[in-house]
Amino acid sequence: MLRFDLISIFPEYLAPLKLSLLGKAVDKGLITINIHDLRDQTMDVHHSVDDTPYGGGAGMVMSAAPWGDAIDQISNDLDQIDLIILTPAGKKFDQAMAAEFTKCKQLIFACGRYEGIDARVGKHYENKSNFKVHEVSIGDYVLGGGEVAAMVIIEATARLLPGVLGNPESLKEESHSIISSSDDLLVEYPNYTKPAVWRGLEVPEVLLSGNHGQIAKWRKEQAERRTDQLGKE
Ligand code: SAM
Repeated sequence: MLRFDLISIFPEYLAPLKLSLLGKAVDKGLITINIHDLRDQTMDVHHSVDDTPYGGGAGMVMSAAPWGDAIDQISNDLDQIDLIILTPAGKKFDQAMAAEFTKCKQLIFACGRYEGIDARVGKHYENKSNFKVHEVSIGDYVLGGGEVAAMVIIEATARLLPGVLGNPESLKEESHSIISSSDDLLVEYPNYTKPAVWRGLEVPEVLLSGNHGQIAKWRKEQAERRTDQLGKE
């Protein structure tokens, strides 16, 4: 069972993790999701988790100490713990990374705020033999915090685990897993449902033909065309 731990100063921001697919996966015992408040690790009256940056500059940096204490407290005695530090300066998250994360036992997400987390936190855990540290970005833009990024990664990862999707066939023919004739990954073909005509727009005739070979061929062409188009934008 894959265990997800999230550390944040806004644990309530992560409430959607209890809903829908992920909520059901927790109920079925396929995953666990544990949310931790970083401020529980503070001793002062203001529960401060940040300080001014060494070297000067705008904003505040999250202090290493509460992060270290929080991570130590939730690290199980596993031989491998994967620590994900969310940062726009990290490696770009994609479907292949999601598939890699499904092989993990415990994934700890450090959701930063302000100007980010003191760089020594990642360094410290990199030096521990049972930790693997991943600095991950969900895209080339800057969010206010890592919570949304953590939810993106958890949802994309968890839905690849056996039993999480009602119909595992859905995983076979979807964007970033369809393979072209030249072994490239494609985005999905367009989908349609009833009625056959909506506001004067008709469903492509081939999809009504019942000819599975023709439908598969048409879908592959459409997936290739869509992927091609993305490359040109
Ligand atoms: N000063 C940082 C920089 O320029 O790289 C940006 C800090 S951002 C305002 C605060 C936090 O939001 C980050 O520590 C990180 O946890 C999260 N965050 C922002 N953008 C992100 C992205 N694209 N991917 C993952 N996490 C992100």
